[in-house]
Amino acid sequence: DIESLSDLEKLSVIGHGNGGTVYKVRNRKSSSVYALKVLRFDQNAAIIRHQAACEAEILKRVDSQFVVKCHAVFDAIGGELCFVMEYMERGSLYDELSVRINFPEDVISGVAQRVLRGLHYLHGMQIVHGDIKPSNLLINGKGDVKIADFGVSKIVVGTHNACDTCMGTCAYMSPERVDPERWNGCDADGFAGDVWSLGVVVLECFVGHYPLIGLGEKPDWAALMCAICFGERLEMPETASPEFRSFVRRCLEKEWRKRGTVDELLGHPFVNRSFGGSSNEGFIDFALHH
Ligand code: ADP
Ligand code: MG
Repeated sequence: DIESLSDLEKLSVIGHGNGGTVYKVRNRKSSSVYALKVLRFDQNAAIIRHQAACEAEILKRVDSQFVVKCHAVFDAIGGELCFVMEYMERGSLYDELSVRINFPEDVISGVAQRVLRGLHYLHGMQIVHGDIKPSNLLINGKGDVKIADFGVSKIVVGTHNACDTCMGTCAYMSPERVDPERWNGCDADGFAGDVWSLGVVVLECFVGHYPLIGLGEKPDWAALMCAICFGERLEMPETASPEFRSFVRRCLEKEWRKRGTVDELLGHPFVNRSFGGSSNEGFIDFALHH
């Protein structure tokens, strides 16, 4: 129902990132609310342009209840690329974590299940997300979690892909992406990297802070890269249930060939806990209030 950008009225800024600015907007005609992501380009930023075109292409293709919906893509007059997206009222898991400190296991189980179902859908479309982290997992008014931000994603084509460079956030990056040589060749397509990132996210949701850096410590990126590649395997605290610990172990297997796949993990007991509610009920609220 949105024919042009002029149908939209900007209400407020809801996010800033590498990519650009995200606004809360309203359709003047229907008064429906959307999120508008605006990507700006410097004159010579051909590579960024290419990645933005890729993001647009992916957004046009995907249609899943586990992925933030894109309703329209516009080329603005100033050369910006604009995505009109479903508005996720409660912001990101990053925002939620900064308010709530951490989550009970049942909520994390629901988050993991939804992200895995989203990844199952995306990987089935040959799309590697490449940047799974709390600020890219968004929550709507009902409490549903969906995957967003295809700003570094890629569509896997053909049999050979050059290993991608450090484009995602390094903190959530798998050992094989940080150091492809040591880890016995790059994961040819990158699907296993999304599983690793999910493992870091669920661990973070449980302990309440990014797990590879102590609370309040300043990140030392080189040390962090070393810890991901050469450090001890990340272990869940003893207070977590055995299923949860086993789930995280499967996600954070350093050797990507041995790591759990999305299909395997969808069958894992940790993500198949019953909430009692219907699957359409906002599970975050359900799990927190029942
Ligand atoms: P970037 O590439 O800059 O990281 P994102 O797509 O991740 O761009 O958006 C940046 C932030 O804007 C998100 O972390 C989130 O807080 C907010 N945001 C993005 N899309 C939406 C949306 N559809 N609804 C609500 N908030 C959003
Ligand atoms: Mg983002």
